[in-house]
Amino acid sequence: MQIAALSEKILEGDRRALARAITLVESGREDHRAAATELLERLAKSGRQALRIGLSGTPGVGKSTFIESFGMMLVAQGLRVAVLAVDPSSARTGGSILGDKTRMEHLSREKAAFIRPSPSQTNLGGVARRTREAVALCEAAGFDVVLVETVGVGQSETVVAQMSDLFLLLLAPAGGDELQGVKRGIMEMADIILVNKADGDLKSAAMRTCADYSGALRLLRKRPQDPTGFPKAQTVSALQEAGLESAWQEMQTLATWRREQGHWDRMRAEQARYWFVEDVRQALLARLQTPWARERMAELSDQVAAGGMSPTVAAQDLLKGLGVSA
Ligand code: GDP
Repeated sequence: MQIAALSEKILEGDRRALARAITLVESGREDHRAAATELLERLAKSGRQALRIGLSGTPGVGKSTFIESFGMMLVAQGLRVAVLAVDPSSARTGGSILGDKTRMEHLSREKAAFIRPSPSQTNLGGVARRTREAVALCEAAGFDVVLVETVGVGQSETVVAQMSDLFLLLLAPAGGDELQGVKRGIMEMADIILVNKADGDLKSAAMRTCADYSGALRLLRKRPQDPTGFPKAQTVSALQEAGLESAWQEMQTLATWRREQGHWDRMRAEQARYWFVEDVRQALLARLQTPWARERMAELSDQVAAGGMSPTVAAQDLLKGLGVSA
């Protein structure tokens, strides 16, 4: 299909066209890259914006159950919801644990929903770029909410936070009274912490965990993009569909405030800046991975180790070979 025609279809909200376009941005082929860039440039003119929600949590915390219930609630309100994933484990295995659509059985059958598994790529940088582009495609296709899910294993949270307007951290009730070892850096990214499984026997533990996190959040440095009371923690039960309405209200309150105060645009501008630098960095790193570069690097590093060359001269030699002047 011609790019112009594909672009039209996406703007009409055609899900098959959207799926094709995402396959195009995921492709590593050079001609596909060129076509994808042209498509994205075209679609950027639509100026459509979705509410981009990042969602992180360790395996088993209830992410897919939450997305299913939360997504269905939004669909019931007449909203169109897209779900994407950044799955660092698929980068390692080539398969995707977040790829299984049956995890969101009902949502995946909804016409107003679009679910796309994580691309299998060899590195997080590659997955990041493709997901970011997929988010842009979903926005152009008129989705109101784009959920980007990731497994909480370090770096991938940063990647998702940098493509989101709001960042949710999903936690399970803690057994003891410890703070589940959630890293401070991840807490600092969260706009809303949702303590899931607040039902049945787990309810009181969930309430306690929520109170602990509310306390911990209050101790964090105040960020300019937060109104009073944010970031905050609250309990939900994805399974019993409890607290979802209230969580959605909090998200909307925060998003509206950020829009009104100009933080929304400023955050997106900062993200664009981040991704520009990141793309340059990734492209330069990729150059170091070519067979020639690896071989030359090994030779030069041996020479440096043997004292035949200084590290500075060797680095300059390699960079010159790569066409990058030092
Ligand atoms: P994910 O790995 O984060 O996607 O977690 P899942 O959504 O697959 O959920 C892991 C397990 O927790 C499943 O057995 C779910 O049924 C269960 N679970 C998810 N949400 C809730 C909840 O709100 N309450 C309870 N009690 N169990 C839940």
